Amino acid sequence: MQVHVDVRVDLSNKRIRFRGRMAESECMSNLENVQTMHSTPVVRIVAKARLPSRFGTFTVVGFESEDGKEHSAVIHGDVEGHSAVPLRVHSECFTGDVMGSLRCDCRDQLEASLGMIAGEERGVVLYLRQEGRGIGLANKIRAYALQDAGLDTVQANHALGFQDDERRYDVAAEMIRQLGIESIQLITNNPNKIAGLQAWGVKVDGRIPLKMPPNEFNWAYLQTKKSKSGHLL
Ligand SMILES: [Zn+2]
Repeated sequence: MQVHVDVRVDLSNKRIRFRGRMAESECMSNLENVQTMHSTPVVRIVAKARLPSRFGTFTVVGFESEDGKEHSAVIHGDVEGHSAVPLRVHSECFTGDVMGSLRCDCRDQLEASLGMIAGEERGVVLYLRQEGRGIGLANKIRAYALQDAGLDTVQANHALGFQDDERRYDVAAEMIRQLGIESIQLITNNPNKIAGLQAWGVKVDGRIPLKMPPNEFNWAYLQTKKSKSGHLL
C-alpha cells in the first residue's frame, strides 16, 4: 500500500518533514529512524587524547553536538564513576580566553580552574562553544560598542534583542553524563549555572567559588554580574 507523506527532518530546528509517496513499510521505518534520531544525545564523544599543558597533564575529550559545534572536556585524573568531581562549565570567550581581554574575567577563571583541577586528585573543565553568553562573537563585539557608549552588560544585550544570558546547559549535562560522572562540585560564582545543570538532571553536591581580583577595566562588568545577574562575588 502506498501512502502520501510530507515529512522532512531538520534537527537544528527540531522539525520533522517527509515528502512524496512511499510504501507504508518504508514510511514506518522512516518514522522509527526519526524516533531514534530524537532519542540520540544532543552531543557525543568523537575523540580523546593526552594533553600536556602549562597547568599539568590532562586528557582532552572532543565532543560534537547536533548543531555541528565542537565542545571539549579537559580532564585530570579518573572521573568515571566518581562523585563530587570538581567541574567547571566554561563558555568560550575569544576576546578573553585567547586575546587576553581585560573587559571580562573569563581567562582568569579558566586558568584558575585548570590550575585548581590539576592540583586535585580529579577534576574537569568543560569548554562550551557558546561565545558571548550564547549570542556569538559579532554580537558580543556589538554589545561592547554599546557598553563603550555607557550601557552595562545586561542593558547592552537587551538593546540587541537578546536575554542577558542565552547560555544553555543541556549540552554540558549530556557531556557530564557521557563521561560517567556521578555528581559534581561546580566551580563557579554563578548560582544560575547550578540551577541550569540541575534542570537537566545533573547532581550538584556543592559549589567551589572562584575569587578573581578585579582590574580597572572589568570592575564595572563584575559589579553588574553581582548586582544584576546574581553572581556571588
Ligand atoms: Zn569573557
